[in-house]
Amino acid sequence: MLKGRTAIVTGSGRGIGKAIAMKLASYGANIVINDIPSSEDADKTCEEIKSMGVEAIVIKGDVRNADDVKTLIDTTVKTFGSIDIFVNNAGITRDGLMLRMSEEDWDLVMDINLKGAFNCIKAVARPMMKQRKGSIINIASIVGVMGNAGQANYVASKAGLIGLTKTTAKEFSARGIRCNAVAPGFIQSAMTDVLSDDVKQKYFDSIPLGKFGNTEDIANVVAFLASDMSSYVTGQVINVDGGLVM
Ligand code: NAP
Repeated sequence: MLKGRTAIVTGSGRGIGKAIAMKLASYGANIVINDIPSSEDADKTCEEIKSMGVEAIVIKGDVRNADDVKTLIDTTVKTFGSIDIFVNNAGITRDGLMLRMSEEDWDLVMDINLKGAFNCIKAVARPMMKQRKGSIINIASIVGVMGNAGQANYVASKAGLIGLTKTTAKEFSARGIRCNAVAPGFIQSAMTDVLSDDVKQKYFDSIPLGKFGNTEDIANVVAFLASDMSSYVTGQVINVDGGLVM
C-alpha cells in the first residue's frame, strides 16, 4: 500500500509515534525517525524498523527549532528523493490548574505541540508542492475538541493544531497536499501512565467501548490517512477514542 513512499514521523522513538512508524513500515514505506537530540530510543526503533525490510534513518532534532526542521526535511529529500507522508506526532504535557500554571509551562507546551507542527508543515510543504502530492497527518487529541480541566496549555495547543490542520488543507489542496488530524482518546503510553488511578478510572467509565486504546489503534487510522485509500479526505479530524466523544 505504501511501497516506495517516504514517511517522516516526529517524536517517533517511542509511544504512539513509534507505533505509527512501524505500521507505515509494515505497509512498505521508508521511514525517517525524528526525536529530540537526547533520545536514546530513536536508534533502537530505527533498527527494529530496518529489520522489517524497509529503509530507515534517524534524524534527531527539536521540532521547536526551525533550523533542525530544515535539516530534517533537506536530509530526507537528499536521502530518499521525496517526502510523501509527514506525521506531526511530537507532543508533551505539563498539566496543572490554570490559576497555578506557570508561563514557562504554557510556552513550552505551545512551542512543541503547536509551533513545532507549524515549523514542520511550513518546511515540508515546499517539497510536497513540487511533487504535487503529499499527506500531512497531525496527532491532536480529543481534549482539543472537548476541553479538559487541568490542561489549559495542552488543550489550547491541540485545539490550535485542529485549526492549523483545516487551514493547511485549505491552503494546499490545490497543490495536491492533503492534511488531516487524528484525535486520540485515552491511549496507553508513557504520557498516560503517569496519571492517577482516579483520573484513569474516570476516563475508563466514560468510554462506551469499555477499554483504553492502544498505540496500534492510532497507527491504523494514520496508515489509512497516509495512503491513497483516503485520497478524497482532507481537513478532517478523526476521533479514535472508543466513542468517548460523539
Ligand atoms: P510520548 O510517549 O511521551 O512520546 C512523545 C514523543 O515525542 C517522545 O518520543 C518525545 O521524546 C518526543 N518529543 C518531545 N518533545 C519533542 C520535540 N521538541 N521534538 C521532537 N520530538 C519530541 O507520548 P505519546 O503518548 O506517544 O504521544 C504522542 C502524541 O499523541 C502526542 O502529540 C500526544 O499529545 C498525542 N496524544 C496522546 C494521547 C495518549 O493518550 N497517550 C492522547 C491524545 C493525544 P522523548 O521520549 O525523548 O522525550
